Amino acid sequence: MAKVAEAKIRTESQKLFSQAKKYIPGGVNSPVRSFKSVGGNPVFISKASGPYLYGEDGKRYIDYCLSWGALILGHADLEVIKKLKEVISKGTSFGAVTKLETELAKLIVEAVPSIEQVRLVNSGTEAVMSAIRLARAYSGKTKIIKFEGSYHGHADYLLAKAGSGLATLGIPNSRGVPSDFTKHTITLDFNNLKAVQKTAEKYSKDLAAIIVEPVAANCGLILPQEGFLQTLRKIADKYNIVLIFDEVITGFRVCYQGAQGFLGVKPDLTCLGKIIGGGLPVGAFGGKKEIMKLLAPLGDVYQAGTLSGNPLAVTAGIATLKKLNNRKIYENLERKAKELCEAIKVISRKNRVNLEINYISSMFSVFFTKGKVIDYKTAQAQDLTIFKKLFQGLLREGIYFSPSGFETNFLSIAHTKEIIEKTLQVFSKLLKK
Ligand SMILES: *Cc1c(COP(=O)(O)O)cnc(C)c1O
Repeated sequence: MAKVAEAKIRTESQKLFSQAKKYIPGGVNSPVRSFKSVGGNPVFISKASGPYLYGEDGKRYIDYCLSWGALILGHADLEVIKKLKEVISKGTSFGAVTKLETELAKLIVEAVPSIEQVRLVNSGTEAVMSAIRLARAYSGKTKIIKFEGSYHGHADYLLAKAGSGLATLGIPNSRGVPSDFTKHTITLDFNNLKAVQKTAEKYSKDLAAIIVEPVAANCGLILPQEGFLQTLRKIADKYNIVLIFDEVITGFRVCYQGAQGFLGVKPDLTCLGKIIGGGLPVGAFGGKKEIMKLLAPLGDVYQAGTLSGNPLAVTAGIATLKKLNNRKIYENLERKAKELCEAIKVISRKNRVNLEINYISSMFSVFFTKGKVIDYKTAQAQDLTIFKKLFQGLLREGIYFSPSGFETNFLSIAHTKEIIEKTLQVFSKLLKK
């Protein structure tokens, strides 16, 4: 019976996927959605509610991807939807200023320790591009340091990987990016302070910015080691480098004050996205007034957007942040994530599976590997064949993990104790095999 149902589901998603592939390259509008690295056909989603995604196939899934972390309140939160319904009847875009934008900006400034002023954009990619332009203008310098395995959106000069050897200049890791565009990008290992120190010294006259995910969440979840961010702050100060935290994932996720509040290190500029849009397309970048005032129309750093500060997106963001401004919510999320992750560790030990689980607050990643995962190289040491099996097993059992071994999973406030228990039962069953 179950087998027949599964076969039907497979045929159905195969049909939808091949139709999509006819009109959309690869059938997707963002590559990881294709399930390329986990195999099988992607699940086409028809609707979602609370912790659940519903496939076009009629199957229900517990969602641990949550629109890549954006939906910390769970899907279709009633308050967010109610506010959206109210504003949508008043118009969808004005291309002019609104009170709503000031309200969201104020919420962000009051929450994030280092942000004195903030500008709203439409995506995390845009936020990062604009922050880097601003950092270059402010410092009057050109080169940037980023870390391997981090993701900062798809701007040309950020699609760079390390060349051979320490502190060589970046080489493109996408076709279509001229090497001239990545030659100012230096890629170093996350958590490797020696490399940062050496590079900062060598290029001190040229270094405009260090951009870092304070908690790296785009090659699986990797935590900063003790002192890593603090020392980046010191190095940035010493050499007049603008320190940029890309908090597109961690902002309002690890706590209401973001990773900078959680870990107690203040950057000069911060990039936000995901959660601050409450599930609609938004990004933001902000920081010290002294830097932000260089932006047009005050200054001569150009940046603009037709739909920036869109009333629907901003409304969803305001409703989300207002609900999140409550320490209990984060304590609760943290406790549930800890419960889940510690129990998965126990299950894996019992079944003699080499599994590492990294977690902080309500974010976690499982890696099938023996050693600790502290940077891109150690993340790459994981056994992706086992991950693939786990992913497919979870999916069969109605659990939707982020579809890659190099992505992070998330909890929402809609993930109840029962949902966690159900997830653990499935893990027990799968890790036995
Ligand atoms: C998702 C993400 C981005 C890009 O945001 P988009 O809205 O997809 O453009 C940038 N930086 C980090 C850390 C992200 O996780």
